[in-house]
Amino acid sequence: MSCISGKSEINGFNTKLLHGRTSSGYGQREILPPVSQVSAFQYESMEELEKVFEHKSMGYAYTRIGNPTISALEQKINELEGGSQAVCTSSGMAAISATLLAVCGAGDEIIAGTGLYGGTIDLLHDLEKLGIHTVYAPNLTADGIRPLINDRTRVIFGEVISNPSLAVLDIEEVSGVAHEAGIPLIVDATSATPYIVRPLSLGADIVIHSTSKYINGGGNSIGGIIIDGGKFGWDFDKFTALAEFKKYGRMAFSIRLRTDLWEDFGGCMSPMNAYLTYIGADTLGLRMERICENADVLARALAELPGISVNYLTLPNHPYHRYVSSQLNGYGGGILTFGTGSRERAFQVINSLKYAMIASNIGDMRTLVIHPASTLYIRSTAEEREAAGVYDDTIRVSVGIENKEDLIADFLSAISE
Ligand SMILES: *Cc1c(COP(=O)(O)O)cnc(C)c1O
Repeated sequence: MSCISGKSEINGFNTKLLHGRTSSGYGQREILPPVSQVSAFQYESMEELEKVFEHKSMGYAYTRIGNPTISALEQKINELEGGSQAVCTSSGMAAISATLLAVCGAGDEIIAGTGLYGGTIDLLHDLEKLGIHTVYAPNLTADGIRPLINDRTRVIFGEVISNPSLAVLDIEEVSGVAHEAGIPLIVDATSATPYIVRPLSLGADIVIHSTSKYINGGGNSIGGIIIDGGKFGWDFDKFTALAEFKKYGRMAFSIRLRTDLWEDFGGCMSPMNAYLTYIGADTLGLRMERICENADVLARALAELPGISVNYLTLPNHPYHRYVSSQLNGYGGGILTFGTGSRERAFQVINSLKYAMIASNIGDMRTLVIHPASTLYIRSTAEEREAAGVYDDTIRVSVGIENKEDLIADFLSAISE
């Protein structure tokens, strides 16, 4: 029987996705959370609604603040990540901005890796105007960040697997150094997904995803999620942005986020997008297994070709290869890049592909390709491109779930043209 409340911890990823704690309890015994596509919720009496506003009784009032379809998605991903609280947002960028603004105020500093997602670099730039300064660590490693930590540092921020450079963050090592200094490690795990790594279990304090990518998987809605591990011990003299929430202790970040920052900035997810993301997430495990297998065989096939240089984590010569077994559950993820020799050649190869769609996205179950230098990095400096592993001849592939024989044949034929 499915959906027993209080059942013991489920270990299997796919089983947990389909039969986890949150897979039941909907009003009319629906097998999925119904789409509560409403702005507001009605009450029998004013007293009842007052209790909801006073947080004295559970209930929804207004969708920007809470909605059952969105809650179902929050709980599902929270359970996968092993978090204590999760909040869905209108986009991945809304998740990153709300998180950083909930922890940092004017005069505070963030230490971030280079080679971050372009939108995140732009955001960090915007935050400078609010007095929040970012110091970049070319290597987000213990030795790379130690000399950068000072009294103003409030956050270490990095991507678990950077896109498209494919640098892997050593979560255990970096969180260790962060915690020694009393600072949380906040990670963007979008390209890794909870199927490949559960950052909270390795020491990260807050995990962020753009659900627009692998969690949704169907490329049908923009969204984000913030998962708080609830274990970080905030020093409220230092984290003044959270001082007002001191009485909540280790939950101060989540409570500030929900009742203050995220609620007031207004970046909620729409119920319909929560529903689409929820049903997409049901197949996250199956898709990732297939995507990672396809990416691995495609990378190996491309690496055999003369004049083609391939960047993929499972290739034995990759600088971060060791993390595949130590941190990434044996997988290399769904993104690979390869160099073709020139920009013209890259365009020609991309244009000759039959199945891979030319699109500015990752994490779709369809294979997507792009020439990053002329699109995603068109406004970046040469140093930023280099840090991101983006060269004039680089093609990025977000590998999908197509039959691997077809994918390989498509790429080999496009390259041989
Ligand atoms: C896409 C992406 C984001 C931003 O997410 P949106 O949903 O597009 O706002 C952030 N980080 C990474 C790693 C991404 O790939």
